[in-house]
Amino acid sequence: MRAAQAAYARLGAAVASAGSTPCRSAARPDAWHEDVGAEGAASLCAGCPVLAECRAYAVAAREPHGVWGGLTWSDRRRLAVRRRAEVAAAV
Ligand code: SF4
Repeated sequence: MRAAQAAYARLGAAVASAGSTPCRSAARPDAWHEDVGAEGAASLCAGCPVLAECRAYAVAAREPHGVWGGLTWSDRRRLAVRRRAEVAAAV
C-alpha cells in the first residue's frame, strides 16, 4: 500500500493548495455522492482542481466506495485492469 500512501499524501497536498473542492463544499461532505448521485458527482468532479490526484489515489488504494476523481468503483476497476494489461504487454 506504499503507492496508495504516497498518492494520499499528494492528494492531501493538492487539496491544501486548492483550498476547496466540490465534495468538501457540499452540504454533507461525507455523503455528497449519495446526495447528487453517481452521474452528478462525476459531473462535479470534472471541475475539481484536484481531480487527477484524487483519481490516482482512489485507483492506487482500490477505494471500494463512492465517486473519486469522477470515477465510480466499476470505472476504477476497469481502469486498473486496463493498466495492468498494458504493463503486462510492455514486459
Ligand atoms: S475529484 Fe475528488 S476531491 Fe474533487 S470533487 Fe471529486 S471526489 Fe471530491
